[in-house]
Amino acid sequence: MSGIKLSIIGAGSAIFSLKLVGDLCKTKGSSGSSVSLMDIDEKRLNSVHLLAARYAAALGANLKFEKTTDMKRSIEGADFVINTALIGGHGQLDASRKAGEMHGYARGIDSQEFNMVSDYNTLSNYNQLKYFLEVAHNMEEICPNAWLLQSANPVFEGTTLISRYSDIKVIGFCHGHYGVEIVARSLGLDIKEVNWQVAGFNHNIWLTRFLYKDKDAYPLLDQWIEKEAMKWKPEDPFDDQMSPAAIDMYKFYGRMPIGDSIRNGSWKYHYHLEAKKKWYGEPWGGADSDLGWAWYQNYLKASTDKSFKLALDKSINLLQEFPPEVMSREQHIPFIDALINGNQGRFVLNIPNKGPIIPSIPEDVAVEVPVIVDQEGIHPEEINPPLPKRIMDMYLAPRRSRMEWALEAFVYGDKRILQEILVRDPRTKSFEQAEAVIDEILALPFNKEMKKHYEIKK
Ligand code: NAD
Repeated sequence: MSGIKLSIIGAGSAIFSLKLVGDLCKTKGSSGSSVSLMDIDEKRLNSVHLLAARYAAALGANLKFEKTTDMKRSIEGADFVINTALIGGHGQLDASRKAGEMHGYARGIDSQEFNMVSDYNTLSNYNQLKYFLEVAHNMEEICPNAWLLQSANPVFEGTTLISRYSDIKVIGFCHGHYGVEIVARSLGLDIKEVNWQVAGFNHNIWLTRFLYKDKDAYPLLDQWIEKEAMKWKPEDPFDDQMSPAAIDMYKFYGRMPIGDSIRNGSWKYHYHLEAKKKWYGEPWGGADSDLGWAWYQNYLKASTDKSFKLALDKSINLLQEFPPEVMSREQHIPFIDALINGNQGRFVLNIPNKGPIIPSIPEDVAVEVPVIVDQEGIHPEEINPPLPKRIMDMYLAPRRSRMEWALEAFVYGDKRILQEILVRDPRTKSFEQAEAVIDEILALPFNKEMKKHYEIKK
């Protein structure tokens, strides 16, 4: 990766900063590269900058770090831009959620069937989607040949939006496919002997191929369900890969849902806290309950506090905290290493469905699929066997419609579109309720620009 410039936008991200910086320091091929850390929160920025410099020094990594609060400056001369920024932070997501709850929309209006993810807001997230395009358009002007690695959510809507409205090379990144390893481990399988493939959309992927030592491994899953499933208990709210919800989805759709797809089933799993507990386990009822999300907020706070502490306390041995031989398993840095240094790798990435990779999905929709990456570029695998018809028709089709509706609302900007989307939500009991909740959200102080954008068009 010698000599490349990487810009990380939203570098203070609780979830990403330590992992990306650590991976970069540990990747031999990154030697000689420079990294521009960009964030509008100076405390977080200073902390990640200090930490990055200290860790690189401890490892003897030849990397140069700069920090800036100016996005345009950060992407100047960049070869890769990683966007992890969350505009308005979790506080604004909470405010939108509360506005929704005041009007009878548990967990907020964005918490929709097939999209239950609590920081994956698509309808009330105007500022975030607008920023996605701002990064891409600034890149077109300043570093037109750079790759945009889109990590901030919503990845499905964001990658599709950017690839439709910008010429920048954009790839969406997520780590949900590692759920395959949890399935294999639960069944006592050696992952090296598992031949697997997943396909779908971000947070909507399915284990289409599952072979163990060249034989169909689904019968082994059936045995596990018969003998072991009843003993399953979650270790944390995100531990849902082998949950009753996952098994139920498998039984209905014929393939195992992987990663965050399990949070994105139908209303059946989400009617109320008791339903969530039944399907995602006690005590939290999964990540997308009040209890599960409070757990995650504490986790994020602890992670940010830890990076502040590690940055300032020079007596802490960073090599013990972050062992040099252990990579975070985020795909960003290995992806760059594959593309630049030819360290070929297999990744699961969100890319436009050119080809098409998944038949019957339009080519301008981002799909999440396995790809091989090398110096020649990104080579999607043929999806074989294909996704079953029921998954295509009853899961991916409605999820894609939701994505299209959210983008229609965002691009066109007319609150009647948001109202119309809510009319299709079973929580809506009257049109007045849909009108009132949209007005409540548009009246939030940080949504001034959104409100203007969503004026009714004549
Ligand atoms: P966070 O609030 O801890 O971090 C976001 C960072 O963005 C903060 O440091 C904030 O100061 C910064 N920021 C806000 N506005 C900015 C602006 N205008 N310019 C530059 N930086 C700005 O959030 P988090 O929990 O770390 O999540 C970050 C994003 O990553 C979210 O969208 C989340 O949903 C997403 N996420 C993605 C994955 C994935 O695998 N793709 C996994 C987890 C979280």
